[in-house]
Amino acid sequence: MRRAAALLLALAVLSGLAGPAYADRPTGPARAAKPLAGRVVVIDPGHQLGNGRHPRQVNRLVPAGGSRKPCNTTGTATNAGYPEATFAWKVALKVRARLERLGATVRLTRHSNSVRRWGPCVDVRGQAGNRLRADLKLSIHADGSYAAGARGFHVIAPADRRPWTHDIYRSSYRLARETRSALRRHGLHVANYIAGGDGLDVRSDLGTLNLSDVPTVMVELGNMRDSRDARRMTSAKGRSTYAAGLVSGVRRYLD
Ligand SMILES: [Zn+2]
Repeated sequence: MRRAAALLLALAVLSGLAGPAYADRPTGPARAAKPLAGRVVVIDPGHQLGNGRHPRQVNRLVPAGGSRKPCNTTGTATNAGYPEATFAWKVALKVRARLERLGATVRLTRHSNSVRRWGPCVDVRGQAGNRLRADLKLSIHADGSYAAGARGFHVIAPADRRPWTHDIYRSSYRLARETRSALRRHGLHVANYIAGGDGLDVRSDLGTLNLSDVPTVMVELGNMRDSRDARRMTSAKGRSTYAAGLVSGVRRYLD
């Protein structure tokens, strides 16, 4: 027993000594443990929970890339009243935790999920990755369609819209494809009611995408008005599945 304890102590001392050297030069095992070290990811968790209580602020028009649009909207909810804002927020926190464990630096576009707060507006969300020179920006939403049987996720990439997105539309499309593949690998199905049935949409009307100078996509992770999608979205296990899929897509894109 005493010899085993001494051996463990020696190992602990050795690994302690090895730590700083690895931190300085991330090679070999350290790089494998932190594959996203040095990467910067911006996560935009949908609408603020209190947007509905602040109509004046939320309806103000802001630049959206070639047009002006309302600052934000209230987002949708499940039929039982579970808000999109809360869903997006909880998924975003899980995505952040996973990305940080992989070594990435993560920034969120909002820092609370509160009925007392509103915003930020789409122009701020759109530009959130620019000054940080982020590797990518991921905007997390859920849809609210009343069409019978409408369910599944879709990923939205920015259209080629000069001068706004010409520099990022190709890389964003690649990010969108990786995100779609990753969500599928995690057992999620593409939307059967929108985006042409292939889970991939390209849009030119979204300020959150138009104003980005870094590769960006918006994901509508499911239809909150569908009972099956809603069940997944309102469970911690379901939200972990969405988060794992999104992180997997980010990893593939950055590899
Ligand atoms: Zn939304």
